[in-house]
This record gives sequence, structure tokens and C-alpha cells, in this order.
Amino acid sequence: MNRQTDLQHIELFIDGRHVKPSSGEYSVDIDPATEEPIAAVALGSKADVDVAVKAARAALKVWGGMRAADRGRILQRAADLIEEHSEELIQIESRDAGKPLGGVRRQDMPAVIDTIRYYAGWCDKITGSVVPTRPDALTYTVREPVGVVGAIIPWNFPMMIGMWKIAPALACGCTVVVKPAELTPLSMLRIAELLVEAGLPPGVFNVVTGKGSVVGEALVQHPDVNKVTFTGSPNVGRGILQGAASNFKRVTLELGGKSANVIFADANLDRAARSAASGIFFNAGQVCSAGSRVLVERSAYDEVVDRLVARAKTIKVGSPEAPDTTMGPVVSANQLKTVLNYIDIGRSEGASAVIGGARIGKKGYYVQPTIFAKVAHEMRISQEEIFGPVLSVIPFDDEQDALRMANGTAYSLAAGVWSADIGRVHRMAAGLKAGTVWINTYGYTDVRLPWGGSGESGFGREHGEAALENFTEPKSVWMAIDQ
Ligand code: NAP
Ligand code: MG
Repeated sequence: MNRQTDLQHIELFIDGRHVKPSSGEYSVDIDPATEEPIAAVALGSKADVDVAVKAARAALKVWGGMRAADRGRILQRAADLIEEHSEELIQIESRDAGKPLGGVRRQDMPAVIDTIRYYAGWCDKITGSVVPTRPDALTYTVREPVGVVGAIIPWNFPMMIGMWKIAPALACGCTVVVKPAELTPLSMLRIAELLVEAGLPPGVFNVVTGKGSVVGEALVQHPDVNKVTFTGSPNVGRGILQGAASNFKRVTLELGGKSANVIFADANLDRAARSAASGIFFNAGQVCSAGSRVLVERSAYDEVVDRLVARAKTIKVGSPEAPDTTMGPVVSANQLKTVLNYIDIGRSEGASAVIGGARIGKKGYYVQPTIFAKVAHEMRISQEEIFGPVLSVIPFDDEQDALRMANGTAYSLAAGVWSADIGRVHRMAAGLKAGTVWINTYGYTDVRLPWGGSGESGFGREHGEAALENFTEPKSVWMAIDQ
């Protein structure tokens, strides 16, 4: 049997319609829970990227030339349609990425809708200002769309992180070519159809599926793409920055982290441990802001480890479809290999797995929730992003020691601090090197609050008003008004 020909073929989406890839080639999209094929997805090429960018360039005049309020109305209609089709999108996302249905329903889907509604509201509120300079001049600024945006999306929250990029880009009057992760292309393709149904003119939003090294690279190198917004790994991010130099593209990079969740002995240890456990095990640890290092004040160390283990035992690992599943598989055979390799590294470094530490079953990419105790700050499992359900618990002596370790990796995306001492939590919030600090909670994001990091976590901010700067160029206008 030819595995590919029996599968549903999913095409590219360019200029408002589905088109076959110029290569005629497809890749098989695998269900991470069963390892069974889901669909054959078009493998785009440089030639397809050219066509998509040309369509996006032509559509700039239409979209950017429209009344801003009309753009907003189309995006609001798109939000309504996405909301109407939520259940379908939840099913698609869950199957494609192996994410438990409950989690997608509770987090990803509401965030997608909230994001598009929020930026729909911005369309007619992106203003410049009149700036007083000289009495003989009227000087003012306007914000213009940067142009064609290439959005490169990861597989951990394909639809949500995708919307974080496309909603502000569209609100600013830009047009977009999206390159979804090869592992999880399906939700963006369905969203493309819904955007067009909502009235988005053809060419404003295009999706070219395929390999990062081909389609992603072609977008990054393309002379007619003005901006690349990327979420993924530091190595790919570095290449994107270099490639973008070709035509001085603007770049935003969100590259993950090794975030520290710092628990002092005076904290509410029950809440802290519950939150820290979901901070690492949610989405099987495949979260850029996962609290993958829990730092615990030495006097509370044993108690917190016990509480974390107790929480880990309550996690129900299983099929993403089952209503009681709280953790699904990791996304791919490769990711499974990476995670299991890190578990071996942890053991060989002398850390001890107090729970978990192995694959579950032989079919589906399931890993046990894993907690390492006796972890030292310098170990690789404390320094490197694993992107799986693997937690390192590290003791500390005092605030300075906690800050030294919390800030002691190449990343700086997010951090948490737990304490009942109001002075201490603010000292820590000030001292933590992170784009987001959570105090006595962990993991919340909201489209109204800036999101991003520095160092190996990348640069630039998504969300809120900050994202509007990613997709607009200020223009200064100087008019002489003397007689
Ligand atoms: P990745 O390779 O950085 O992939 C992210 C996106 O970039 C995907 O769409 C990928 O396409 C694309 N891409 C790959 N090579 C490219 C290139 N040369 N030029 C342009 N685009 C390219 O990440 P990954 O392999 O999926 O995951 C590896 C690690 O990255 C994870 O273990 C994790 O540490 C980190 N990560 C972080 C986040 C985050 O939220 N910050 C998300 C995902 C992964 P293909 O899928 O087709 O290769
Ligand atoms: Mg998939």
C-alpha cells in the first residue's frame, strides 16, 4: 500500500485558495499519540514562497489601503468564525500536536480568540502624534505597515503562537506569509480558510507548509519580505538573524528558556508546589516559559520535593482525546529521543530521578513526568532547555544565592518567585533577569501584557501595544507653515 496516496492531501494556501506544491511532493503528518499518519501535507519550495510573497506584496495595497475600521470589522468577523468553529479547531490541534483536548479547550482556543479580538480593536487606534518642534512647522508622525511579514511558527502552540503573530501584523495593515512547523501545519491552514470566509482579501494571508530549511529559509532570504517574526530554537533564530541581514529585514525572535521558579520556605508551599508542577508538566513540558528549574530554599527542600512528587503522581498521562488526560505525548519521535537523552544525561551527571525517568509504552511518544532531585546548578539538565516533562529541583541558601542561579543560564524569558515576604518578592522581581516575573503564581500570559525575553531567549516583545511596533514603521512629516 502506498501510505501517502491513501491519505487526505493538504495543499498550500496562497492568494486566497488552495494550491498544489510546485514540487508535487508531500510529507506525512503523524499523530504523536498513535504514530499513525493523519494527512499528507504539501512540501512547499522556494518557488512557492516566491508566489506567496508576490501575492502578499500585491495585497498590501488593498489591505493597507482599506479604511482601518473596515480592517477591524473583518478581523472581528474572523474572530466570530473562529469561535463558531472552535470545537473543530480544538480537535485538529489536539490530534496534530498530541495536545490533550481539555488543555486546548481551556487555554489555546480562548487565547486565540482573545488575541484576534484584541488586535481587531487596535486597527483604527494605531495613531501617530503631532510633535512640537518649531513655530514655523507642523511636524507629526504616522505609523505605516512594515510590509510583507514572514511568520515562522513552532509546534508547541501552533494556533496560539501563530495568532500572536498574525493578528497584530494584520491589524497594522501588513500582509503575511506563514510557515507553520512541519509537525503541526493543520490548524493554520484551517484558520486561513476562515479568514478568507470572513472577508480578508486574497493574498493578505498565505500559508506555505514545508521544511524549515527550505520554506523558512526562503522566507528569511526573500528580498521582498520586510519582517520576520519567529518562535523556536536559538540555533535557528541565530540563522534567521544572519539571513535577515541580506535585505536588512526587521526581526523578532522568541527562543524559549530555562525559567527558574524560586520557592522560599515562608511561601504557601502547597500552592507553590501545585503551581510549580503544572509549570513544568503542562503541555508535556513543551512550553517556552516552562518552569523547568525549581529552586527551593534549603530548609524547605525535602518538603517541596515530596509535594512535587505527590503532584506528579496525580498526572494522568494518556490519549489526548480522553477527557481525564492531563498530559499527552511529546510531539515527535525526535523530541522523545531528545527528552530521553536528557534523562540519561541527568542520571550520568549524578542527579536522582525521584519519579519518572522513562518512556511509557511502545506506541505513541509518551514520557513519564520526571523530577530530578540532588541537581546542581552547573549540570546540563539545569542549563539546557529540554522541552519535555523533566524538572530539576535545586536547593539554595539565601536571596543572593537564588538570584545567582536563577539568572545563571544563557536564557532569560520568565521566572517565578514564591514568598510571603512582600519586600523580598519585589527585591527578587527587580533582580530576576526575565521578560516576565510571576509572584506567588506561575505561567499566566495575557495578550495585553508584553511577552518576550533577552539573551538566548531572543529579543523583541509580542502582545499588547509593544507588538504594534513590530509591524509598523514610524514616519515623520515636516511641513513648513511660515508665509
Ligand atoms: P526549530 O527548529 O527552531 O523550529 C521552529 C520553526 O522554525 C519551525 O517552523 C521550523 O520548521 C522552522 N525552521 C527550522 N529551520 C529553519 C531555518 N533554517 N530557517 C527558517 N525556519 C526554520 O525548533 P524545533 O526543532 O521544532 O524544536 C527544537 C527546540 O527548539 C525545542 O526542543 C525547544 O528547545 C525549542 N523550541 C522553543 C519554542 C518556543 O516556544 N520558544 C518552540 C518550539 C521549540 P520545521 O518544523 O519544518 O523544521
Ligand atoms: Mg502533526
